[in-house]
Amino acid sequence: MINQEKIKQAVSLLIEGIGEDKNRPGLLETPERIARMYNEICGGYEEDVEQILSKTFPVDNGQMVLEKDITFYSMCEHHLLPFYGKAHIAYIPDGKVVGLSKLARTVEVFAKRLQIQEQMTDQIAQAIMDYLSPKGAMVVVEAEHMCMTMRGIKKPGSKTVSMAVKGAFAEDEALRRQFFELLSLEKKLD
Ligand code: ZN
Repeated sequence: MINQEKIKQAVSLLIEGIGEDKNRPGLLETPERIARMYNEICGGYEEDVEQILSKTFPVDNGQMVLEKDITFYSMCEHHLLPFYGKAHIAYIPDGKVVGLSKLARTVEVFAKRLQIQEQMTDQIAQAIMDYLSPKGAMVVVEAEHMCMTMRGIKKPGSKTVSMAVKGAFAEDEALRRQFFELLSLEKKLD
């Protein structure tokens, strides 16, 4: 899906548009380098979340599973600048769980696309509902947006927090409270 040739042309035009000399040594290989880089940072379009979440293990325990502090890097679709931070995912299994690394992979698939944070948060929660069929899922994402910190209103260190709740988490406030209690456990133990 990634068309490296088009990215090369676009970056070349961008360099010209800025008023730079695209043939000076420092910039000569930049279009090619960026085209290769986009294979990685926008590689999430080619990945299949259903497949990632398809290998499950049976469990009797129906208690909440929380995987927290999953680091991610994504690209804001309004400015093509990075936003990055941490995702926290919880779900309540209904007879099956998935390997914990698969939750991190799921975050990565949606992060490596042009995104807005709120949409990414919802997509992660919805994928877990769709492919793992738990009783509920909850995702909280906290991120710093370069379009907020290096341009515009310039508020370095400010974080955007987004949340998606599905199933039992949407219905039961006590579950949401438990999620936040588990999330802050580490800080209390310090
Ligand atoms: Zn932005």
